[in-house]
Order: sequence, then structure tokens, then C-alpha cells
Amino acid sequence: MHDLPPTSPTHEFVTPFFLGSCEPAEADIALFGVCWDGTSSFKAGSRFAGFAVREASFGMEEFSFYQQASLLDIKYTDYGDLFLPPGQKGRVLEDIGSAVREIRGKSQFPIAFGGEHLVAYPLVMAAHRDHPDLAVIHFDAHADLRPDLWGDEWTHATILGRVADKIGYENLFQFGIRSGSKEEWDIAQQHGTLHPFTKEEIAKVLDSLGDRPIYLTCDMDVLDPSIYPGTGTPEPGGIDYATFIGGLKQLKGRRLVGMDCLELAPHYDPTGVSAIVMAKTLREMIILASQRKR
Ligand code: MN
Ligand code: MN
Repeated sequence: MHDLPPTSPTHEFVTPFFLGSCEPAEADIALFGVCWDGTSSFKAGSRFAGFAVREASFGMEEFSFYQQASLLDIKYTDYGDLFLPPGQKGRVLEDIGSAVREIRGKSQFPIAFGGEHLVAYPLVMAAHRDHPDLAVIHFDAHADLRPDLWGDEWTHATILGRVADKIGYENLFQFGIRSGSKEEWDIAQQHGTLHPFTKEEIAKVLDSLGDRPIYLTCDMDVLDPSIYPGTGTPEPGGIDYATFIGGLKQLKGRRLVGMDCLELAPHYDPTGVSAIVMAKTLREMIILASQRKR
């Protein structure tokens, strides 16, 4: 029988997820998972995003070479995943809405991640409630402007149409879109919502917005499936990661009021790289949020 070794004063417990995350009460930025896939029209599975992203975050450096900033200098917290029961769409959207309103009520900047795009609706609406002059910047492969999908107006393929119904199509700016129905194409052309994912075009839109509050909704299938295959509706012809990060960085110092990072179905990517891409994107988003114009 041996004595246990003496407790070392240098013991350090591993931070659960996302290096350096702090107690909720101290946080300026709130990360939380909205992992639900109830209307995924093709390959479901984004309900599992939370686990995969947090696991991927273990292997992540806290410092961003892209923005030359460290997560360790930022007060952010990870609330974990909201409990979102499969199938219960109405309840799920209501619960996401009440959770994000609570976070906003604490003056914390919300960054939601994980699930299919419909979950963005209550997130954007909560931002719009606080900021009636809200502009929405939308990164995606898909327009998500369908009036309905198989008779349902509330799906991940209709979400930005429902957002635009509320905030006005003139306040929706879509980048990276390369797929949709003829009906969506016509709606997008009628309202001029589509913009190429280029530095010049993003700069032009941001200049036109000035100091208006901006919500960024980011469907990660905007990336090419060669670097992000773990998603429900992969779409060839997407942008590479450098272009994507370049676009994100253009939001630096802007009046951001909320962000999301969605559509990770990790099981379709056996390499796990897609989850790493989302984790690293969240790192960049946390840094961006910390430098937002207030
Ligand atoms: Mn989408
Ligand atoms: Mn998409």
C-alpha cells in the first residue's frame, strides 16, 4: 500500500470547453449551442454539433494569427447547449427566443452555434427587437428564401425569407449564395439581396450601412465542401477558408449585435475537420465580438 503523492500546488484543471471561458456572471460574450435539425431537408445530424465543436476546441490555440488577438484576453462564457427536443419546432423556436432574450438582457453578446439554419429566426428577431434598424448579413451557399418548402413556411430553406418579411428585404445582404430554386432566384433579383463573396462587395455593403447595427448569420456551407463536408446540404463551388476569414475580418470594429455559426452535421465528416473549422470560426467570432463598436 502506497501513499498517494502529495497534492501539487501547480495542479491545473482543464477548462471544460473553449479555452479560457469564464464564469457566466463575468462574461461580455455568451456562446451557446442551438443544436437541432428538425427541418433539415437532406442530411440531418446538426443536433450533434455541440459535442463535436467542443471536442474540436480542445485542440485549438487560444491565439488567432488572423486577428492577432487571444481568447484569454476576452471575457466570454460557454453556456452549453440549449435543450431542444427533436421534432417540437414551436417549442424549440420559443425556447431559443427566450434564452437569447435573457442573454441580451444581461448585456451579453450572443454567439449561437451548431444546428440547422431555422434556429437563427428567433436569434435574429431578438436582435431586431432591440435594434429596429437592424441589417442582416448572411453568409450561405443557399438563398433560404423559399416561400415554403413542401408546404411549410418555417424551415431551414425558408428562414431568410421569414427574416426579410420582418426586417425588410432591403436590409438583407446575402454573400456566397450559389444555390436555390427559380422562385428564390426571382425573389433575390427583385430585391437585390445577392452579393458576390468578395472583399470589394463586402466593403461596399458595409460602407452603405455605416453605424447601423449588424447581425451576422453564418451558414457554414458557404465554404466549399472540400474543406467543410460535414453539413446537411453540401454545395460545390464554395469559397475557401482564407476568403471566408477575410470576409469576417472586414466586420472588425463594426456595430455587431449578434452572430451565429450554423449547419454542422459532424457525422458526415469522418476526419472531424468540419468541426474544427467551426470551432476555429467561433474563435474568430469571439474576437470580432470583443472588438465590436458599442
Ligand atoms: Mn442556410
Ligand atoms: Mn446553406
